[in-house]
Amino acid sequence: MKLKNLAIGGGITLGAVGLGLAVKSFLPQRFATASWVKERGRWPRFNIAALPEIEVSFLRCGSITIPELIAVRGAFSLAPRVISHSAVLIRHPQALFLYDTGLSSEIHTYLVDQPLFFRKTLANFQLEQSLGSHLTERRIGRSDLDFAVLSHLHWDHVSGIPDISGVPLHINRVEYEAAKLGLFDERHGLVRRLMGDNPVELFDCAGPTYEGFRSSLDLFGDGSVVLVPLPGHTAGNTGMFINRSNGPRVFLLGDAAWVSENYMRPATLHPFIWSRVTSDDATARQTLIDLHYYALQHPEVPLIGMHDAALQEQYMRSEKFTQAMTR
Ligand SMILES: [Zn+2]
Repeated sequence: MKLKNLAIGGGITLGAVGLGLAVKSFLPQRFATASWVKERGRWPRFNIAALPEIEVSFLRCGSITIPELIAVRGAFSLAPRVISHSAVLIRHPQALFLYDTGLSSEIHTYLVDQPLFFRKTLANFQLEQSLGSHLTERRIGRSDLDFAVLSHLHWDHVSGIPDISGVPLHINRVEYEAAKLGLFDERHGLVRRLMGDNPVELFDCAGPTYEGFRSSLDLFGDGSVVLVPLPGHTAGNTGMFINRSNGPRVFLLGDAAWVSENYMRPATLHPFIWSRVTSDDATARQTLIDLHYYALQHPEVPLIGMHDAALQEQYMRSEKFTQAMTR
C-alpha cells in the first residue's frame, strides 16, 4: 500500500515537473544584453556614390505558417507567422549570383525517404515556385549564374541546387569543415545528395572586424558585398551586407534569426525547434545579441532572415518603389 502511494506520489510529482517544464518553455528567456560592449572598434565609412548599383530580389520558393509562439519564445501569441524558403538573386556589375538557393522543383523526391516525423515538422512546407521556375521567368539560364553563396549547409538552404547544377557553390570553410564531421552524413546524406557534383569553392572570413562583427570578407574588394560570420545556428552560418548606390543597405542573416523579433527582443525560437536546429546554443544567443545592438544602432538597415516572409515581402515592395523612383 505504502509502495503504491509512493508510486502515485512520484507520478504526480513527475507530471507536475513535466507540466512546469512545458509551461516554462513558452516563457521569455533572460538575455545578458547589459554585458555587451557597445564600441567594438571602428568600421569604415564609405562613399555611397562610389558604390556600384546592385539589384537584390528575394525569390520565394515555398512556405509554412506557424503560430507566433513557436517562432518567438515568450510571444504568448497564436498569430500566424509565415516561414518562407527563399533564395536571393543579386545582380552586381561583376557577377550575377545567389545567396542561398530556395527549393528545387524536385525537392520532394529528395525527401521521400526521410522519416515521417521530419517530413511533418521541419520539412513540412508548401512548394510555391521552384528556383528553376523563378530563374526561367527572369530569362536566367544556369550558365548565366556565376556562383551561389550558401549561408550555411542545412538541407533547406541547399535544396535549390538541383535546379542550378554546375554552378559553383561558395561555402564558408568553417561551415564545410564542420559539416564533414556530421551534417553531410545525416538524414541518409541528404545535404550531400542535394549539393550534387556542383563545384565547391571555400572562402574564409579572414578580413578585419566589420560593423562590430568579428571578421569579414569583402567579396569584390570594393566594399559592396561583405560577408560576416553569424555563428551558432551552425558553426559557419554567414551573413551578407549589401552596400550599394541605388538603394538602402541590406543585411542578409542566413538563419541567425527566423523573424525580426528574434533579434529585436531578443528571443530564440521555441526550445522545441531551437534545440533541433541550433548547433551551439550560447553562440547562437550571442549572435542574436550582436544583431540586437546592430539593429538598434542602424534602424535604416533591414536585417532579413532567410525564412522571414514578412520582411522579405516588405523589402520587395519598398525595392520596387525605390527602383521606380531612381529610374
Ligand atoms: Zn533554414
